[in-house]
Amino acid sequence: MASSVDHAGLKRRQLLAGLGVASAAGLAAAVRAQPGAQPGAWDMTTDVLVVGSGAAGASAAIEASQAGAAVLLIESLPRFGGSSAMSAGVVYAGGGTALQRALGVRDSVEAMSAFIAGMSGPQPPLEKIQLYCEQSPAHFDWLVGQGVRYGEKLATAMSVPLDGESLYFSGAERAWPARELAAPAPRGHVPLGPGMTGGRTLMEALLARVRALGVSMLSGIEARRLVVARDGRILGMEVSMNGERKNIRARRGVVLASGGFIHNREMVRLYAPHLYECSVPWGNIGDQGVGINIGIGAGAAALRMHQGFAIVPLYPPESVLAGIVVNAAAQRFVPEDTYYGVLGDAIAYHQQGRAWLITDRDSHLPPQQDNFPQLAQANTIGDLAEQLGFPRGALQHTVAYYNRNALNGEDPLFHKSPAYLRPLQGPPYRAWNLSVDQAFVPAHTFGGLHTTVDGQVLDGFGEAIPGLYAAGRTAAGLPAAPYIASGLSVGDCTFFGRRAGLAAAGRSAA
Ligand SMILES: Cc1cc2nc3c(=O)[nH]c(=O)nc-3n(C[C@H](O)[C@H](O)[C@H](O)COP(=O)(O)OP(=O)(O)OC[C@H]3O[C@@H](n4cnc5c(N)ncnc54)[C@H](O)[C@@H]3O)c2cc1C
Repeated sequence: MASSVDHAGLKRRQLLAGLGVASAAGLAAAVRAQPGAQPGAWDMTTDVLVVGSGAAGASAAIEASQAGAAVLLIESLPRFGGSSAMSAGVVYAGGGTALQRALGVRDSVEAMSAFIAGMSGPQPPLEKIQLYCEQSPAHFDWLVGQGVRYGEKLATAMSVPLDGESLYFSGAERAWPARELAAPAPRGHVPLGPGMTGGRTLMEALLARVRALGVSMLSGIEARRLVVARDGRILGMEVSMNGERKNIRARRGVVLASGGFIHNREMVRLYAPHLYECSVPWGNIGDQGVGINIGIGAGAAALRMHQGFAIVPLYPPESVLAGIVVNAAAQRFVPEDTYYGVLGDAIAYHQQGRAWLITDRDSHLPPQQDNFPQLAQANTIGDLAEQLGFPRGALQHTVAYYNRNALNGEDPLFHKSPAYLRPLQGPPYRAWNLSVDQAFVPAHTFGGLHTTVDGQVLDGFGEAIPGLYAAGRTAAGLPAAPYIASGLSVGDCTFFGRRAGLAAAGRSAA
C-alpha cells in the first residue's frame, strides 16, 4: 500500500473546508509553467500527483500506488468520476477477451488492429494501436480484477444494449469499407448496470479500488500550472484551493488526466472549429482543456487538436437505415448503416455540418423523437426536393439511381449492407434535419498532449519532458476522427492511464 501524502503546512480539515471551483476564465489565465522551486515552499508533498478523477486518472492512480508510490489524486469538481462516470462505460476490447470467448465470439489481435488502424483516418497512432490490441484481453481481465462486472450476454442490435447484455458491435465493423478490411467482431464491452449507467458502475469500481489502495483523494482542488526546475524537470504543481494558491511537490511525476476541452468554447473555436457548431457539448463541465494548456505551458506538443467526435445518433430504430442521407447537393456521401460517429464525422467535417435524411413510408423516424426535426413531407420525391430547395432534379436523380441499384441488391457507391438496402418506395416521403447545429449532435474533443505509449509527454522536438505524463482525453490517444467505435475512448483512458501511472511511479509496463 502507498505511504500517506505529506501535507506540510496544511491540515486535512483545512483542505476540505469550503473547497470551491474557480471559473474557467481564471484557470485559463494560470497555465504557464512556474519556474524554479523554493525549498520549503511546498504545501504538500507526494510521489505521484494525478490530476483528474475520471477513467484515466483513476487507472493511473491504481497502478502508481500498486508500484509503491505515494499518490495524491486531485479533482477540481466537488465529485469524483468526470465524464467517465456519465458515460455508458463501453470499453472497446478484443483479440479474444474472456467475455468474447465465453460467448463463442471469434476474434484476433490482427483483425482488431486492422480495423482500428484502417478506419481511423490518416496517420493513425500505430504504435499505440498495436500495443492496445495485443494487450486487450489482459486489460479486460484487469478491469474485471478491479471489480468491474460484466454479464455473459451478447446483443445483436447496433445501439448500446440496455438489457443486461455486455457485448455488442459498438462500431462500424460491419459497414463498408470496414468489413472488407477485417473480420467483424463484437468488441464493445459494457459494464453491468441499469440503463446507460455503465460508466457509473465502471467508475464506482475503479474509485473504490483507488480508495482501498490508500490513495489520497481531494476534490475541489484545481491544477493551475506546473512548477518546473531550471533543467526542465517537473517538480510539482501550483493548485488553487479555496481561492488560495498552494504548491504540491511531486517527487516522481505528475500525471495530467483532466479530460478534454469541449466546454472551453474559445479553445473549441480556435482549435476544433468543426466541433464548435455541434449542438451538444458532450462531457462533464470539467472539460475545460486546463490540463492540455498546462502541458503546453511547460513546452509540450499537442496533436490532433482539431479532431473529435460528433455523433449523429440515427439509430435506433435500425429500420430508419433503409432511408438515405444526402448533402446540400442532394447526393449521398456515406453508407447510412455505418457507426453514428462515422456519419457525424462525415457531416461535421466533410459536408459543412449540413445533411438530410430522406425516408419513405416504412423507414421514417418515430413521431415522438425530437433529435432530428422533420423539415418536409410530400407524396413525391420531386415535391419533397422542391420544399427543401435542392438543386433542380438532383434529389430525383439520386433516388432513381439508388432505387435502380437497390432493386438488384447493389449499392455501387457505398455498399450499404443488404439488411438495410431496398428501394425508397411509397409515400409519404419525409426529410429530417441532420445538420449539426439543428439536430441533436453531441461532440467532444480528441486532441491532446503528445505522449509516448507510457504516457510521457513530449515537447515539439520529440523529447520527453522529465516528470510529466498525460492520459485520457488530455493526451492524443487512440480516438481519432472519424470516431469508429464506442469504447475506444474509455478503453484508451484506462489502458494508457495505467501505463502513465506506472511510468510516473518509476516502473515500466510490460
Ligand atoms: C454521455 C456520455 C457517454 C459516453 N459514453 C462513452 C462510452 O460508452 N465509451 C467511451 O469510450 N466513451 C464514452 N464517452 C466519452 C468518454 O466518457 C470520455 O472521453 C472519457 O470518459 C474521458 O475520460 P478522462 O479520464 O480523460 O476524463 P474525465 O472522465 O472527464 O475526467 C477528467 C477529470 O478531471 C477533472 N479536471 C479538469 N480540470 C482539472 C484541473 N485543472 N484540476 C483538477 N481536476 C481537473 C474534471 O473535472 C474531470 O472530473 C461518453 C461521453 C459522454 C458525455
